[in-house]
Amino acid sequence: MRGAYAIGIDVGGTRIAAGLVERKGRIVRESKILTPKTAGPFGIVDAIVGMVEEITAGVHAAEIAGVGIGLPAQVDFTRQSVEYSTNLPLGGVDVRGLVMSRLKYPVTIDNDGHTAALGESRFGVAKGVKDFVMVTLGTGVGGGVFIGGRIMRGSRGFGGEVGHIVIDVDGPPCPCGGRGHLESYAARPAIIRDARRAAATYQGSSITRLAGGDEDAITAEVVIDGANSGDEAAVEIMGHVGDMLGEALVGIVNILNPQAIVVGGGIGESCPLVSERAAARVAAEALAGRRDVKVLMAELGNDAGVAGAAALAFEDHDSREGLH
Ligand SMILES: [Zn+2]
Repeated sequence: MRGAYAIGIDVGGTRIAAGLVERKGRIVRESKILTPKTAGPFGIVDAIVGMVEEITAGVHAAEIAGVGIGLPAQVDFTRQSVEYSTNLPLGGVDVRGLVMSRLKYPVTIDNDGHTAALGESRFGVAKGVKDFVMVTLGTGVGGGVFIGGRIMRGSRGFGGEVGHIVIDVDGPPCPCGGRGHLESYAARPAIIRDARRAAATYQGSSITRLAGGDEDAITAEVVIDGANSGDEAAVEIMGHVGDMLGEALVGIVNILNPQAIVVGGGIGESCPLVSERAAARVAAEALAGRRDVKVLMAELGNDAGVAGAAALAFEDHDSREGLH
């Protein structure tokens, strides 16, 4: 069938995943590689092109609706350009043009928070939910805002950066250059910072024990595992992450009155305490009439980025063909 598949690519700071995706969201072929960080922007483009060729082998070009790419970057959706990227050397690089010049398919790029939100909206926990906000907690904090069943992009496409809501004007620095943003409290580096501080403060801290006695081995995953099994210090650290997320959500819920909040990303999906504590804050502090908002954990895991990027390609294809 014409346009039966789309290719979804999720470019991360650590890993790139590509999938051949059916219209209902099933990933029928997949390829994953480590992100070639030292090869510059062309190394990343080469990797993307190679993965697309691999997963489309034997598939007729007419069956491919297009390629969607989610990037860990500030993407000007209107111009389809990358403005800025903290984790990868993609700022100012015409990723779309470079990929498209080497493949026979149309290419659409977006910010990875948007593609993850699209994935959960079309195929995951937010299916059928018209108004929701996605927050992804991982190496950074990203997100996407859905209003009336459509992603809110703002005037140029940069909308939905929930990770950079100010929690405390005097708070710790944020990688974006700001201070006290949600990302300064709820991303992987913040968890490691808080855990090392706890380990240094309390002699014989359980965090150090959880890390096998080695302070340098403290990772966010060690803290999350500890919290999930009830370790007191780890519960305090991850509970604080949930509280800070909750504070940001109170403002979001007051402004947008969504039906649901979807908490995803590697951290959001592996630590139920985070969304529980955030939900409690929202229930206690949001303005009257808005407190019935559901705080849900994302369910597509790592597939959200690939499936969502494919959904982006399908949408683009269908609007070009006048299908909706
Ligand atoms: Zn920030």
